[in-house]
Amino acid sequence: MGTATAPATSSELRLGTPIKTLKAINTKRAAAFDRLDIHTVSDLIRHLPARYEQLSSESAIDDLPMDAVGCTRGMIVATRVVPRRGRSGKSRFEATVEDHSTRLTVVWFNQIYLQAKIHPGMTIRLQGKVTIYRSKPRIINPQWERLDDPDHTPARSARIRPVYSTTEDLPSYVIEQLVRDVFTQVVDQLTDPLPAEFVRANAMVPLADAFRMAHQPDDLQETQTARRRLAYNELLLLQLGIVLRRHHNQTALVAPALHWSSAIDKHIRDRFPFDLTKAQAGVIREITDDLQRDQPMNRLLQGDVGAGKTVVALYALLLATANRKQGALMAPTELLAEQHFLSISSMLAGSNVRIALLSAGQFSAASRQRTMLLKKIQQGKYDIIIGTQALLADAVKFHNLAVVVIDEQHRFGVLQRAALRTAVSSTTTNNTADENTPDQGESATAPEDHRQPSPHCLVMTATPIPRTLSLTVFGDLDVSTIQGLPPGRTPITTRVVDQNKAHEVYQLLAKKVAKGDQAYVVVPAIDAPDSHDQNARQADANQLKSVRAHAQLLVQKYLQHLPRRAVAAVHGRLKRRTREAIMDRFRSGEIRVLVATTVIEVGVDVPNATLMVVEHAERFGLAQLHQLRGRIGRGAHGRRSLCVFIAEPTTDDAAQRLDAIAATTDGFKIAEHDLAIRGIGEFFGTRQHGAPPLRVANIPEDMKLLQLARRDAQALVESDPTLTQESHRRLRQVLLQQYGDTLGLVDVG
Ligand code: ADP
Ligand code: MG
Repeated sequence: MGTATAPATSSELRLGTPIKTLKAINTKRAAAFDRLDIHTVSDLIRHLPARYEQLSSESAIDDLPMDAVGCTRGMIVATRVVPRRGRSGKSRFEATVEDHSTRLTVVWFNQIYLQAKIHPGMTIRLQGKVTIYRSKPRIINPQWERLDDPDHTPARSARIRPVYSTTEDLPSYVIEQLVRDVFTQVVDQLTDPLPAEFVRANAMVPLADAFRMAHQPDDLQETQTARRRLAYNELLLLQLGIVLRRHHNQTALVAPALHWSSAIDKHIRDRFPFDLTKAQAGVIREITDDLQRDQPMNRLLQGDVGAGKTVVALYALLLATANRKQGALMAPTELLAEQHFLSISSMLAGSNVRIALLSAGQFSAASRQRTMLLKKIQQGKYDIIIGTQALLADAVKFHNLAVVVIDEQHRFGVLQRAALRTAVSSTTTNNTADENTPDQGESATAPEDHRQPSPHCLVMTATPIPRTLSLTVFGDLDVSTIQGLPPGRTPITTRVVDQNKAHEVYQLLAKKVAKGDQAYVVVPAIDAPDSHDQNARQADANQLKSVRAHAQLLVQKYLQHLPRRAVAAVHGRLKRRTREAIMDRFRSGEIRVLVATTVIEVGVDVPNATLMVVEHAERFGLAQLHQLRGRIGRGAHGRRSLCVFIAEPTTDDAAQRLDAIAATTDGFKIAEHDLAIRGIGEFFGTRQHGAPPLRVANIPEDMKLLQLARRDAQALVESDPTLTQESHRRLRQVLLQQYGDTLGLVDVG
């Protein structure tokens, strides 16, 4: 809902009118609204009820039904606080309510603060279950509402009323009242962004009606009708954003079409120390098909942990090299970037492919070496540039970037991916402007080509998108999947055990390590102990084990017989050189037990490691646990791998995660579980990107509606790719407002 453009006169209420200028709103209230992120009338109307309450009809106290929920009103004639008695007792606040018929005792347990809110002389309405206690009627913990508040006229006629999410100083009824005051004055300004024919075709109500039904429903049916319409709006906007984005990539961007031949293919494959599996060859086929076109590739490569995605990425990068263009590989962590650098360098040893590692820990930001490196990248003196995503942000200029691979994006949702894609496009746009202009765009043969140069983009993830979602939520990407694992994998046994089994676990670990196995022990990131906890023992037990302390403990208690240098700790705060040296020593087998934070979560590849112990596994997400387990079972050594999660789940979700990880090693199944546990929000990845796109809609429950929205969005964009038709103008405006930045949509109209 946008703000109307006409200036507000004093008598006229507009959607854009600030809440604080309303007569009924004093400074204190205005601040409370601020805290709920409600600043204008428009925000107020978009603040939808969190739920609805069915009102029972009121009766006199004497007529209240026994042992059933009833509703009555009366005046408070007395109140008292009864403090808690004994350790397990409850404190309570009691009030005596009187009407013309009789008196009623009302008890609220553990809510003494009510003494500041409920006073003798006040009239209140109560709803709750009436029982008889010592032959007098009593209600325990009823819902209540003050009736003689001068600001408050209760909705008498409605049988159902909205309940808004509130803060302490802004009760729901105040919001309800304010909405009722302003709604009719602004309802005509609520223009529907959807063309009328869409609303009709989908048998929906107009937007203004939907808002009325949401705030002031006559019955439950109306709340459903409103919800459907408002949810559809959100989903349609999101889908439109994605479809437009895709359309934009296909028509407004141009990528270098890379030449491919079987000679090049052979040349690249000869570099790999193994034959590609059928599955790898299949996805490479899909990728090379894309790379040979001048439309930027926008592909998601999914394959379980250890499926062998790296060589696929390297293939794409080397095809760029073969075309004398640059490729970039971005990893989510410095450690993984370093590892990619090492393993790719070793695979390409003896070739003349020039590889650069650009990592934050390497040189200080302003150092001469770094400036030199950046300069050489810009001059095209490197073919493959490896780094973290800082590569995008860093004002790194490329010479002629053709392929960007973004590794391990399992933590990113659709909006982050789209944002990354936008960053990727602008990366090349910057450098082509100053270098390639003479032969791009302005050439005499294609004077009509106004497309922006952009590299091809391959995003890789080990957390596959559940099939139910891939088309709809990630509709901006083409998807390739590596099914199965390369040969030589050993099965992994997974165990979830209690903290009190830790001793046995480490004894077993010591025994196995003595026989030549290598192990990871993962501890969560270091947290300060909770100083508020009065129970010191409990605090001790809860205190997280820091990496170094834990390594020390293991050495002292279990691994005394190992050489000193056989146990090491690695975490994110180590200097790059130190970290690299440690990883090298682990790879060479000198280090036998590596105690680590989740820096080793993704990508780390040490085939000889067969043991994984994760402390406080209840603290990790499902995808993380799967990734961690994926560090073992990699070697062709034929030894069985063992993964032990030490956990004390305290929430339902945590218990579910641990059940799921113990039940299967199949990444696809795990992703389905993950969706079921976490809900769709995480898949959109809205955390870092401002307002959630979905406030009303719910996935997977609204899957049907989402599919409808997707179909409609596609039809809309097909008929009017720039949304410039008069009937779509409003839609475009709203869309740009909401997703313009994150999806990198440009105002084409
Ligand atoms: P991920 O998909 O998790 O990134 P990697 O690319 O790290 O997996 O590969 C995991 C391991 O499998 C690596 O040690 C890699 O060398 C090995 N690998 C990959 N492809 C093959 C193959 N075709 N044959 C044998 N081993 C392979
Ligand atoms: Mg990988």
